[in-house]
Amino acid sequence: MRGLSRRWNMIKLKTPEELKLMRIAGRVTAEVLDIMREAVRPGISTGELDRLAEEHIRRNNGIPAFKNYRPMASMTPFPGTICASINEEVVHGIPQFSRILQEGDIISIDVGAYVNGWCGDAACTYPVGEISPERKKLLEVTEESLNRAISQALAGNTLGDIGHAVEGYVKPLGFGVVRDYTGHGIGSKMHEAPQIPNYGRAGQGMTLKAGMTIAIEPMIMSGREKVKTGGNGWTVSTVDGSDAAHFERSVAILDDGPEILTPWQSFQ
Ligand code: MG
Repeated sequence: MRGLSRRWNMIKLKTPEELKLMRIAGRVTAEVLDIMREAVRPGISTGELDRLAEEHIRRNNGIPAFKNYRPMASMTPFPGTICASINEEVVHGIPQFSRILQEGDIISIDVGAYVNGWCGDAACTYPVGEISPERKKLLEVTEESLNRAISQALAGNTLGDIGHAVEGYVKPLGFGVVRDYTGHGIGSKMHEAPQIPNYGRAGQGMTLKAGMTIAIEPMIMSGREKVKTGGNGWTVSTVDGSDAAHFERSVAILDDGPEILTPWQSFQ
């Protein structure tokens, strides 16, 4: 997704003043998801959801972080404010007015916003009307894996503790972890060091410090752990057509524990 540079390895610890600004960006980002939670229903297009998201961010003097985002490896900039990924689509689905949600679908919505130069990044998967028990279980397990990962975002813990919290919970339940995409540090840039994998061994990897701000984002599938990128250069789907879910919060690691910077409401 992103080009490596020397700066990529620099971890920026945030000051209390910077954390205040990140809370504002995080709140606007979370509000977009709460709007999505209300708007998602059979018959609405992903293009209309995108329009609602952009409107809210701009009304709050923000800038959509994904719109026109172009990683080095990518030919075309991302055209939307949200990523809207339906059913077997995992991440980076392109919103379109011709793409209409159907009863029983699940839709993963990822959104990022810059406000006053600081970034929030968050995602949630929503049911469209009534969904199957299997899909409901996938959503519940993925959200719970995020909560478990956040509870490990403690100064003195390691990156492996976060990854293990996700993988160690979902795998015994028969779900797969997307390994090709990870969470990331976040701050004045959407993607900062370090990468935050959704797998790992407890106690392994870099030690977490107070002042770090990270986006934790488990991407979980009901089938095999293989994904592919579609012909549009963006949309990532499961290879076997199984369902996928994606939940993400930006989190600050503080001396007294993790603080959620993007306090969106659960899909439930
Ligand atoms: Mg992210």
